[in-house]
Amino acid sequence: MFDKILIANRGEIALRVIRAAREMGIKTVAVHSTADSDAMHVRMADESVCIGPPPSPQSYLSMPAIISACEITGAQAIHPGYGFLSENAEFVQIVEDHGITFIGPTAEHIRVMGDKITAKDTMKELGVPCVPGSDGGVPDLATAKKIGEEFGYPVIIKATAGGGGRGMKVAMNADEMESAFMTARAEGKAAFGNDEVYIEKYLTTPRHIEIQVFGDGKGKAVHLGERDCSLQRRHQKVFEEAPGPSITPEERAKIGKVCADAVAKINYIGAGTIEFLYENGEFYFIEMNTRLQVEHPVTEGIFGVDLVREQIRVAAGEPMSFGQDDLEINGHAIEVRINAEKLPNFSPCPGKITAYHAPGGLGVRMDSALYDGYSIPPYYDSLIAKLIVQGRDRDEALARLERALGELIVDGIDTTVPLFHALLQEPDLHSGDYNIHWLERWLAENMAQ
Ligand code: ADP
Repeated sequence: MFDKILIANRGEIALRVIRAAREMGIKTVAVHSTADSDAMHVRMADESVCIGPPPSPQSYLSMPAIISACEITGAQAIHPGYGFLSENAEFVQIVEDHGITFIGPTAEHIRVMGDKITAKDTMKELGVPCVPGSDGGVPDLATAKKIGEEFGYPVIIKATAGGGGRGMKVAMNADEMESAFMTARAEGKAAFGNDEVYIEKYLTTPRHIEIQVFGDGKGKAVHLGERDCSLQRRHQKVFEEAPGPSITPEERAKIGKVCADAVAKINYIGAGTIEFLYENGEFYFIEMNTRLQVEHPVTEGIFGVDLVREQIRVAAGEPMSFGQDDLEINGHAIEVRINAEKLPNFSPCPGKITAYHAPGGLGVRMDSALYDGYSIPPYYDSLIAKLIVQGRDRDEALARLERALGELIVDGIDTTVPLFHALLQEPDLHSGDYNIHWLERWLAENMAQ
């Protein structure tokens, strides 16, 4: 096992990794920009290294700075968290070339899954059901129009290099094809330096269901059921839960096995998430994330496992501590993402926290790097806390969520907490009856933006 690991991240996820490492008796190194000298992850780690000025490209995304920090401190492995360099195949290669272990999948797996066309082709070959669409890339508008006719509108045009909801455009009919095709291409080029696009049938009322998988890199893999992340704003998840309210045990076992078998076949190592749209009882693969997800705690809650500990174990060459038969669902867990944003426009709201009190009690987990007097810098993601609650069933989890949100105090800045108070008054939220468009519609009706 490693003696010391470096966490190439900040905020709540850096704390999450430090906590797992500490329980395993592993020393931790935090890295930080000059804007984060007082951040909680710096305070909580055993050592810290300043790696550059506030802008991420010069600090949290600076490969030379992070590798140097590893060499100075003697850290043997790097945990990338999520975001930043977590899905950067080139970084993984450089880390390994320096004799440092990357806690995550191989550069090759990241490369394959990072390109959506290659990812879809690979999954199709592995027997995973996919959204009907173009066979690979679509070179020009004429071909795009032909495909639109063939599959029937609406269709979605997606940049193969896209991510974070960018590089995707819907064409409701043939007239909209030209502008959708050109925009998706231009966005792919501008944001990711790659203008290749492909086309999929646009599903009108799907849920977002994702399967958590975990592999040992030697041909053994398990699934840890699904998470339902259908409540989204601008394709970004805001409320996640496990198990999914619409999924039966039979469906879970079936799609779970398909996913576990697929990643076992490619000798996948560590945590991964296979994302699906789910409509009329059918699953359609959309993408695979080759890292720990923001919403992993709901899965940890219902299965009682520590996914970060497991990531560190398999990266160190140890066997997985659980097999498929050890994994049993216990209760229901919900996570809400609390952002430093001002409603109704969700505009970023960094600033000084003048009072902070985290909720607690049975079934409540608060993953946050906030503290009293902390100043949230304006340079990074606006996620400031994840409140995760667990109950014996969904109703109990929802009641607990309302209770815990009521205990939370974050003064000095605006947050998205009022959104969740309002959502908890909605009958649809309690019945679990919604699809990926529900929240956008609700926001349009209830929060004039
Ligand atoms: P990103 O990598 O940018 O997150 P995804 O491919 O994961 O992109 O898609 C993000 C979201 O976009 C999905 O959760 C869903 O809301 C919507 N979406 C993607 N593909 C389709 C589709 N074929 N039909 C309908 N909605 C889609």
